[in-house]
Amino acid sequence: MAKYVYDFTEGNKNQKDLLGGKGANLAEMTNLGLPVPPGFTITTEACRHYLAEGAVPDGLDQEVAKHLSALETVMGRKLGQADDPLLVSVRSGAKFSMPGMMETVLNIGLNDESVHGLAKQAGDNERFAWDSYRRLIQMFGKTVLGIDGDLFERALDALKGERQDTELGAAELQRLVETYKGIVRERTGRDFPTDPREQMRLAVMAVFDSWNAPRAILYRRQERIPADLGTAVNVMAMVFGNYGDDSGTGVAFTRDPGSGRQGVYGDYLQNAQGEDVVAGIRNTIPLQELERIDKHSYDELLGIMETLENHYRDLCDIEFTIERGKLWMLQTRVGKRTAAAAFRIATQLVDQGLITMDEAVMRVTGDQLAQLMFPRFDEGADRKRITKGMNASPGAAVGRAVFSSERAVELAGQGEDVILVRRETNPDDLAGMIAARGVLTSRGGKTSHAAVVARGMGKTCVCGAEELDVDTAGKRFVAPGGVVVSEGDVLSIDGTTGEVFLGEVAVVDSAVVEYFEGAEPADDLVRAVDRMMRHADGVRRLGVRANADTPQDAARSRRFGAEGIGLCRTEHMFLGDRRQLVEELVLASTDEERRSALDKLEPLQKSDFIGIFQAMEGAPVTIRLIDPPLHEFLPDIVDLSVKIATSRDVTDKDHRLLAAVKRLHEQNPMLGLRGVRLGLVIPGLFAMQVRAIAQAAAEVPGARPEIMIPLVASVQELEAVREEAVRILAETGVEALIGTMIEVPRAALTAGRIAEAAEFFSFGTNDLTQMAWGFSRDDVEASFFSRYLELGIFGVSPFETLDREGVGRLVEIAVREGRAARPDLHLGICGEHGGDPDSVHFCHEVGLDYVSCSPFRIPVARLESGRAALSGGDSDTR
Ligand code: PEP
Ligand code: MG
Repeated sequence: MAKYVYDFTEGNKNQKDLLGGKGANLAEMTNLGLPVPPGFTITTEACRHYLAEGAVPDGLDQEVAKHLSALETVMGRKLGQADDPLLVSVRSGAKFSMPGMMETVLNIGLNDESVHGLAKQAGDNERFAWDSYRRLIQMFGKTVLGIDGDLFERALDALKGERQDTELGAAELQRLVETYKGIVRERTGRDFPTDPREQMRLAVMAVFDSWNAPRAILYRRQERIPADLGTAVNVMAMVFGNYGDDSGTGVAFTRDPGSGRQGVYGDYLQNAQGEDVVAGIRNTIPLQELERIDKHSYDELLGIMETLENHYRDLCDIEFTIERGKLWMLQTRVGKRTAAAAFRIATQLVDQGLITMDEAVMRVTGDQLAQLMFPRFDEGADRKRITKGMNASPGAAVGRAVFSSERAVELAGQGEDVILVRRETNPDDLAGMIAARGVLTSRGGKTSHAAVVARGMGKTCVCGAEELDVDTAGKRFVAPGGVVVSEGDVLSIDGTTGEVFLGEVAVVDSAVVEYFEGAEPADDLVRAVDRMMRHADGVRRLGVRANADTPQDAARSRRFGAEGIGLCRTEHMFLGDRRQLVEELVLASTDEERRSALDKLEPLQKSDFIGIFQAMEGAPVTIRLIDPPLHEFLPDIVDLSVKIATSRDVTDKDHRLLAAVKRLHEQNPMLGLRGVRLGLVIPGLFAMQVRAIAQAAAEVPGARPEIMIPLVASVQELEAVREEAVRILAETGVEALIGTMIEVPRAALTAGRIAEAAEFFSFGTNDLTQMAWGFSRDDVEASFFSRYLELGIFGVSPFETLDREGVGRLVEIAVREGRAARPDLHLGICGEHGGDPDSVHFCHEVGLDYVSCSPFRIPVARLESGRAALSGGDSDTR
């Protein structure tokens, strides 16, 4: 028969799945011989059964009764016994900590009789007994009976007036109990249950139910905790911190969870029960002061803290209660910590000989490293938030609002910091984005142009701030509440949280970025990062490359540790002055005109590539031939139509341009004339690019170009382009691998055939996700993803973290069938997922050779590749 209840003496810390974190750790402490009040844990399995069936499993009641009776024997008292009652607490405890999300009921077993017994136990302390009783009704009423907690709070406040709750006398508290009972009667239509066993049973079920409380559901979604785990329930003999001034309750950390530094950290509250600390009813005192109040308990606590840290080999957080000078441990767990503390603590523990470097690397995450790399707003600074958008590219940026790329460049040229505000950006805004400190858009999701480009540059970006009404022509936007921001007004945007503030908020720079840029480690935190990075690099199997398309980005990515470029997008090189030439190309009506345009572009492309090859110093550079639809390089159809309708100096070229724009207009440009299709339709375009690559490579000693064809769906497309490329390379005597992106589902499904014509594959998971799900990558995040997240259709955007189940399967098929056809096929990924921790683990597991990501994600990818290699397939990146 299934066992649903475990005594604290039966479990251990590795049973979190079954006993929850709290239960498993209470068992561990019990077995370490630490002073834990006796009790037992009802398993998560019982909870899952209850939630699924709407009733507790058969046999649970009997098992609980058996354990309760054993507890009564150990304690020498019976639950709720009138003259000498045993009281218990009933607390939730899920596998993953969900602080404050679920329920707790203390003092179970009190009623109108046992309250007198409790007073006697406490040395005729009537006040204490009535205080405990009113707390039971209050907590039980709110948690188990679902009564609005404010009703109890208000009754307490009315009684207290200006006094502290400790100043209330026994008679007053007795009256409060009557008031509380009245509230229960009025709200539920029945009396407060006085049978102790019924109290306990109802409390257990309330804890089960709290797993599905809206706030718990929301928390799980945010923290990516699976919804089907359920919670365990811990029933523990009560110990009392509210007996008087020789009692109290507190929390402690074995190190500072904020900085990671060693010392005594915690808070203590005299004459109080646990929930008072959390609720902040009275001001706590620093834990060090306990030494003065109760030196014996303080010394014992410090000793236990050391025992726990050595045992868990990590920072522990602890809840304890002192009952009349006797210390009791109520909880411990490996404590949450900030990013800086995580790095510091892991290296300290290595130096103390408690953990290995392998373990240390597993104790920090890429997300934590990323947090250390962003400049951030000073937390103590004043701030006036006007809206919140999507946190598209992290960091903190302050500057004057500008509404056009030209103005951004102009003001930045005068030494002003600017924030480029647009409805959405397009490739034309690139210069403005480079010039700006940050980018703010009111439309588009995390893979919109603004987001992708900003992340690539490591530039702060908030996108899709839909509450903003942006009027670029009027050079202003209106925020909620009618706040108007005009050109020149100062804004502060937080790309880590998506918040937008009016005015200047103070910013703090990152020493970790300075270190990656080549500076000597400045302090113990940066030294800790340095050690972790070296170790991760030593153990990782995945290579790490960069998505970079300027010599500056290439050089930075080298400094950040990239071993090559995995994606050099050539389309950004067709902007600015070169637009004229692209226009010429599009307008060409004869072969000669087209050739002339291409001939002018070729030397420019060549010089682009020379700069990048030089910056990469002999490391491989994967250059992708032009990908986006050509209309992206032409004027906007509306602007051009308006000009032709209203301007006096309209040229013949304007008319021809408009005709071309109309001809190239597509309903679904992302699925239209782009990628390899362009190469096949516009003679000479790809050939020009390949020639420029070959000539540039010939001029830079050691250059290692790789030519990548985008948007291939069938081997025939690739063969046609490849044939020409091979011929041009042969003419110039330059060697280069020729490969393809796998970003159309058909390419993944026919990878065996495609591998016959490709020496490498690079998974373009932005397009592959778009096409596998049928989601327009520029639109859906803003339009309905929040609803999908709410419904739990996915826990995180598939554009952010690779969808293993669907898109991942396409990748798996392509890896398997591609390698079967060509065993030495080189495999990488260059979609945005290449810098996402969970996706990096997937890439490791599926056997790719490298990941490629934006320069600022390279350290994250290096660290996570190391962690993936160490985790042996357990890809929990939390
Ligand atoms: C991709 O589709 O994943 C990719 C890298 O190409 P782009 O984002 O330029 O379409
Ligand atoms: Mg693509």
